[in-house]
Formats: sequence, structure tokens, C-alpha cells
Amino acid sequence: MRKNRAVFLDRDGVLNKELGDYVCREEDFHVLEHNFAPLRELQDRGYLLIVITNQGGLAKGWYSEKTLAAMHEKLRKTYRENGIELTEIYYCRHHPEYNSKCLCRKPGSLMLEKAAARFEVEPSKSYFIGDRERDVLAGEAAGMKGILIDSDQPISAVLELIAV
Ligand SMILES: [Mg+2]
Ligand SMILES: [Zn+2]
Repeated sequence: MRKNRAVFLDRDGVLNKELGDYVCREEDFHVLEHNFAPLRELQDRGYLLIVITNQGGLAKGWYSEKTLAAMHEKLRKTYRENGIELTEIYYCRHHPEYNSKCLCRKPGSLMLEKAAARFEVEPSKSYFIGDRERDVLAGEAAGMKGILIDSDQPISAVLELIAV
């Protein structure tokens, strides 16, 4: 049994506003403030918070690694100002129409497995919260409990599903 528990989080529609497609510009990246309190609560319960996101827009050339890094810096900074520390952000830069099929793009579970190994996370005591079926499938493939929310739905709605 590994020593840590984690709540893995999808990005778009969970941490920042879902736009219906990839967020391509930093100015369109809007952090969902209603999740500050529930994320602090999960952190206080002792969970690591780890982001797992498909960013196939990179493969399509819709935005650059540099723009993505700026969005993630904004996310980390906004959270830090609100008492939340993200352990790590993992993203898949591939897209099946532009690359050969990868193992990291969700519903693939490679990003989750890498993160769990690196941060000594016990999958059976961990969760994946996402707004797509593929998030739930990826979490379950990695041995975690998958929790499906609606896009931009406050995480407070599912806190009772997560062990204290
Ligand atoms: Mg999403
Ligand atoms: Zn990938």
C-alpha cells in the first residue's frame, strides 16, 4: 500500500471554465472560483491534488507549449493565492488525428499511473473528478474511483463521495 492519497482533477470544466473546445488563449482561461473552498477541503483531508488534462490542441497547432505554460502558471498562482497547492499538472500533447495513438490521452491511464508512481499515491484510496466519461474511464483503468460532474459544476456537490 503506497502512503499517499490523491484527488486527480481534469482541467477544463473542472478547474477552469469549459469553452466547448480547447482553451487557446491565456485571456480565455478562467479559473472557477467556486472550487477554491472544496479544493481546500480536500487538501485539508490530506489529499494531493494532481491535474490530468488532454491538450490535443497542441498537436493541432492551435496554441503553443508556451501559451499552455502561461495558463498553468496562472492556475497555480491563483490557487496559491487561495491556499491551494497543486502537486503537479500532467498533460497529453497528442491527438490521434495528428500523431500515432498514444497511451496518455484519456481514456488512456498512463498519466495517472505515472503520477501515482512518482508521488507514491495509492490508487485504491484515490479519485478522479472529471466532466467527461473518458475521465471516469481513465480513473477506473488506473484503479481509482471515477467521479463524473457536469461541466463547471461545483466540486462541493461531490465532496460527500470522497472519504474524509
Ligand atoms: Mg473536461
Ligand atoms: Zn498522449
